[in-house]
Amino acid sequence: MADENKRKLRLTTIVFWVLLLYIIAALIWWFLSLNQQNEQMYQLRRQELYMMYNPASAEYRDLLHKAEDIRSRGRAKYIGEGSTFLVLILIGALFVFRSVRRQFKFQRQQQNFVMAITHELKTPIAVSRLNLETLLKYQLAEEKKVKMLQMTLQETLRLDTLINNILLASQLDVHSYKLSREELDFSHLSRDIATQFANRYPDRPFTPSIEDDVDVEGDTLLLKLLLSNLLENANKYSPREKPITFSLGKKDGWAVLQVMDEGAGIPNEEKKNIFEKFYRIGSEQTRKTQGTGLGLYLCKKIVEDHKGTITVEDNKPQGSNFIVRIPINA
Ligand code: ADP
Repeated sequence: MADENKRKLRLTTIVFWVLLLYIIAALIWWFLSLNQQNEQMYQLRRQELYMMYNPASAEYRDLLHKAEDIRSRGRAKYIGEGSTFLVLILIGALFVFRSVRRQFKFQRQQQNFVMAITHELKTPIAVSRLNLETLLKYQLAEEKKVKMLQMTLQETLRLDTLINNILLASQLDVHSYKLSREELDFSHLSRDIATQFANRYPDRPFTPSIEDDVDVEGDTLLLKLLLSNLLENANKYSPREKPITFSLGKKDGWAVLQVMDEGAGIPNEEKKNIFEKFYRIGSEQTRKTQGTGLGLYLCKKIVEDHKGTITVEDNKPQGSNFIVRIPINA
């Protein structure tokens, strides 16, 4: 599928360049032939004047001067028109080229997304099924049982986030999601998500620091999804033994939320791209993690729907620091 896409892109690029070069060559040919015609007209007129007038006379010089003037104006006109055409053609070509490339890129990302999603849906189901079958079949020690149940819970929660992401992305795209605007206790909501996260990954050093009474106006489901996505990413993109910091506070009329990890971080040139739909850093060959490229796209949409902002900075000494600001309900 990816090869087919590459082949099509190559073919389209070749057709594009051939057509563009043909148009430019035709334009140059048009200019040269008109200019030649202009020159011939001038030569004819000069011969005509030569035969009709005395070359030493003032009248001859005057008329010759006029003919020269007509020739130069003709050339200036062709140059002006030609370059305007050329510039317009180049701008149009650039525009077409960029949109075709963008279209192909988007198509490729969509294909990757379908592959990733198939894997992401199947894995948690397979793991949960295996765990449940084991629990049914064997009498396990209590500790082991709890561990397996925890793992199963972790997988189902992952599946839940994934499905919410997919459903919401399609609903937000067609504007069919009705955002609810209720007054809510963001501190309470954050604590819930932080507890869920800590239960899901008990071995991960995790230090939530949540200020009380941070009230905002918004949609509970969406805000929960925002926090889960940021925390899941921090977990996914940093080594298991490294701490994750999660904080919520108030500053200048804003609820400020930060999720920091100590992973590899995000290169500066990628900081903008990661919020695009289906965007994932690297290529299929170099990526080690699974994902859909929907998480941060949704985070941005959710934050914007709450009239807030989301940015990413480098964490010190390493890793990423995602900062969300949402207006406080005064
Ligand atoms: P997904 O995680 O499913 O690929 P996201 O939209 O959540 O999709 O993230 C987009 C990309 O941004 C990821 O593929 C990853 O390369 C990068 N990214 C997101 N969060 C982090 C993080 N905390 N640290 C490093 N890279 C990250």
